[in-house]
Amino acid sequence: MDVEAAPETVPLEASSPYELRVDNAKHVPENVIKSSLLTGDIGFLHSYTTGSAVDGPGVRVVAWTAGCQFKCLYCHNPDTWNLMNGIPVPIEKAIEGVGKYRNALKVMNGGFTLSGGEPLMQDRFAVRLFAAVKGMGIHTAIDTNGHLGDRLSDEELNNIDLVLLCIKSLNPEQHKTLVGKELGPTLEFAHRLSALERPMWLRFVLVPGFTDGEEDVDRMARFLAEMGNCRRVDILPFHQMGRYKWERLGLDYKLDDVEPPSAEVIERVCEQFRSRGLEAY
Ligand code: SF4
Repeated sequence: MDVEAAPETVPLEASSPYELRVDNAKHVPENVIKSSLLTGDIGFLHSYTTGSAVDGPGVRVVAWTAGCQFKCLYCHNPDTWNLMNGIPVPIEKAIEGVGKYRNALKVMNGGFTLSGGEPLMQDRFAVRLFAAVKGMGIHTAIDTNGHLGDRLSDEELNNIDLVLLCIKSLNPEQHKTLVGKELGPTLEFAHRLSALERPMWLRFVLVPGFTDGEEDVDRMARFLAEMGNCRRVDILPFHQMGRYKWERLGLDYKLDDVEPPSAEVIERVCEQFRSRGLEAY
């Protein structure tokens, strides 16, 4: 299967992660998709961008994978839910693509981040990409919801310098409401990272009326402080930039009336994490 002979080609590099991208893998036969998921020979990417300063330390090249098993009510990239929306990229091309930035990334104390979607939906592709990128001396990070963390062996985790773990909520019912899946697997992954002393940053999406409750935030802060491996908390304020994608994809968007959190609430939440000895921004 020559994936470069796709009938429609869109540039892999996106001007913004908010670009709506659909049906880019519809020409790929089902058996090729299945074998690619088993081998990691081909990855399905929404896009990539260079020069990110918000997806890990320093300046980063970020690749967004297609496919996610969560359906977060506030997801700003619902076009990444479906693997078939991703652009098929052979693993060699992906490695070569990141390698081009190797020197620049080192100078800028940055690295490579694999995000999504959920990168571990394509765990074999992720594992091969991380091994090669780390082998080039580039800092590696994964941005994950952690639900499929058990797909990575301890050895494979060693090729990931930093896990950006997105725990949506520590309240099991609220977690289910927010994302449609159980909290348990993400918590198990968090505990495992702690036991292995693997560096982790929390990505915490602050959604008024859902995740901004003082008690819930304190519960999260205590949990992280006890884990001992959380080096930083990034507060990601809810916004409405992805709303148009829900409309264009014909999805039922439930957060129409939710406003972004105020500066005061963001500061209060930051302080709650800091009061437990965590670095928070
Ligand atoms: S985990 Fe991320 S990509 Fe998946 S639905 Fe939630 S916000 Fe969207």
